[in-house]
Amino acid sequence: MIYQHRFADGSLVNLPMGKVVCVGRNYAEHARELNNPVPTEPLLFIKPATAVVDMAEPLVLPAGRGAVHYETEIAVLIGETLSGSVSDTEAQAAILGVGMALDLTLRELQDDLKSKAHPWERAKAFDGACPLSMFVRREQAGDLTALPVQLRVNGELRQDGSSADMLTPIVTLLRHIAPVFSLLPGDVVITGTPKGVGPLNSGDALSVSIPGLLSQVTHVV
Ligand code: ZN
Repeated sequence: MIYQHRFADGSLVNLPMGKVVCVGRNYAEHARELNNPVPTEPLLFIKPATAVVDMAEPLVLPAGRGAVHYETEIAVLIGETLSGSVSDTEAQAAILGVGMALDLTLRELQDDLKSKAHPWERAKAFDGACPLSMFVRREQAGDLTALPVQLRVNGELRQDGSSADMLTPIVTLLRHIAPVFSLLPGDVVITGTPKGVGPLNSGDALSVSIPGLLSQVTHVV
């Protein structure tokens, strides 16, 4: 099924699915759990539109390429162009909605690519690597520096984070990204995962939420 952005009330967002700009290691405890250094500036990578699927649909994982890890992340839907040097006010105003993403990662392949100093795309940008939820409108999302985010797998709480613990907060991330990768209406920024990442298995039931704001259940085929 072709992915289209939707608001939490089910209405369609009249914007194309663009690229997904992703931030790695934006929570110190997650960097440590994978024995990675805590970066001194945001670590950026991109998933193409072809990686995006609707989180409400069953998750189809790549077969025969090793462990697929979940990373639960707060997703920001961009509503206005941000390019070059932008102010806090401009970055704030460009946020159309807030939702949730799974940054699916072929972890063994990523470790192999990292060891060879090769790009990560094969491990993180494959078809289906970015399930996205619906989006709450910006004005309903409240304080972006205190958004909780949780993942339960088969009822067990695996990830329990807050945007308060981001090394680089959301608006600052947008200001950092815009001079490097112009953000266009319909693009999405996914903002890093809290600790607790792990593998997905066939049949797993997932419940992803920003408690009080948004929740989505899905499962692995
Ligand atoms: Zn991630």
